[in-house]
Amino acid sequence: FSDLVEEAWLSARALKDYSENIFNPTVRLGVTGLSRAGKTVFITALVHGLCRGGRFPIFESMSTGRIATARLAPQPDDAVPRFAYETFLATLIEQRQWPSSTVDISELRLVIDYQRKNGAERTLTLDIVDYPGEWLLDLPLLNKSYEQWATESLALSRQDPRARVAREWHAHLATLDPNGRENEQETLTAARLFTTYLRNCRNEQFAMSLLPPGRFLMPGNLAGSPALTFAPLDVPIDGTPPERSLWAMMRRRFEAYKDVVVRPFFRDHFARLDRQIVLADALSAFNAGPEALQDLEAALAGILDCFRVGRSSLLATMFRPRIDRILFAATKADHLHHSSHDRLEAILRKLVERAMQRAEFAGATVDVVALAAVRATREAQVQRGRDRLPSIVGTPIKGEMAEGEVFDGETEVATFPGDLPTNLQGLFKGEDTFRGLAAGPHQDADFRFLRFRPPRLATHDPEGPALPHIRLDRTLQFLIGDKLQ
Ligand code: GDP
Repeated sequence: FSDLVEEAWLSARALKDYSENIFNPTVRLGVTGLSRAGKTVFITALVHGLCRGGRFPIFESMSTGRIATARLAPQPDDAVPRFAYETFLATLIEQRQWPSSTVDISELRLVIDYQRKNGAERTLTLDIVDYPGEWLLDLPLLNKSYEQWATESLALSRQDPRARVAREWHAHLATLDPNGRENEQETLTAARLFTTYLRNCRNEQFAMSLLPPGRFLMPGNLAGSPALTFAPLDVPIDGTPPERSLWAMMRRRFEAYKDVVVRPFFRDHFARLDRQIVLADALSAFNAGPEALQDLEAALAGILDCFRVGRSSLLATMFRPRIDRILFAATKADHLHHSSHDRLEAILRKLVERAMQRAEFAGATVDVVALAAVRATREAQVQRGRDRLPSIVGTPIKGEMAEGEVFDGETEVATFPGDLPTNLQGLFKGEDTFRGLAAGPHQDADFRFLRFRPPRLATHDPEGPALPHIRLDRTLQFLIGDKLQ
């Protein structure tokens, strides 16, 4: 019965969304990606570019002057935090520092006044919804029992390179008796060690991406709640726990996690998106090695799965997605010379294609782009012996190190970023070509994957400084260009 009520309520909401859309055309744009992918920087740069009028030659409605104004307006959802645009922008421009990253869902509404191609004056409302990509990876949990999830998570954690970071958690797990009496302290410790394991998998060395439950890494406002305090136990996949056992307690919390965390997110937020951009820090995955790249691919397949939920599926009535365009973006392309941007795009395309095959994806239009929402570097040719190397110049963040030198956060340096491999097949097998970026033929050049400060901007413009970018205009054209025709 409650399913029927929920379905009726969802239908009513869909109708309301639909009718509002007729009088007030609205696009709900989802921005997601795993932690540190670049969501906060992307949204800040995008909103600034639209409001101030950025240099966007490929974003047709803006470059031809059809956009009159874009301004912020109060957001529609009272229960969702507002994206702290003004603070983030000030950090970026005035302090020349990167803003703090996404840890929860947030929202921002932009109203764009524009002229249609036929001359008519129109308004488009753009609702930007920022949410951690980790949350999307929770969707498969809805179809899993606690025992299935625990078995799979344990199997994964026993493979290298994960096994190495799972040692402490595994050692504690070995002391637990799933059939023993439920015990809050044991559960807390298990959840803590399991979360540390998940987090360590994500550190720079491994850069592992596929790690549900997503809220363990990105708890949002639920940190510390019982629905987030559980962990896998070594139990049979088709077993049933004795009453009041540790196993029963873990199982109950796993079910609570699905009910109070996963389901509401998909129903109330995800299902209402019209367009989606998925940001990926493919360069970091590169640097970490072939396992990280395979893992990223698996995460992309997992994310694509969410967009695929069809009518036939059990979940369909609850959150049939209406997204009709998805853009996958490799961020931070400013770490590469422009000669490598197309290659980065090609690599991402390959990853996405493989992920699409895995997820048997069909439906929405999918494209890929290599972008830098904020370009922190410029290009130069640097003489190295007899070679002139295509290099990038930027200000490394204070404390970054290369070749024994520690940077002060003020001095500019030129680095040779390395070439991306051309042989894409070799990428996934870990052949030598893969190492092109980290240690190619110019291994002795001063390559390191340095993090740079945001750029110094020319401030004499009366409209305030424009943020330099790479292919942000192409991104906008794909995401909303057709809505501004
Ligand atoms: P989020 O976790 O997805 O919100 O990621 P952020 O937007 O906070 O980005 C994480 C970090 O990536 C930032 O602190 C920057 O160091 C870096 N970053 C993000 N976008 C760019 C970019 O366009 N260019 C450069 N050079 N670095 C970026």
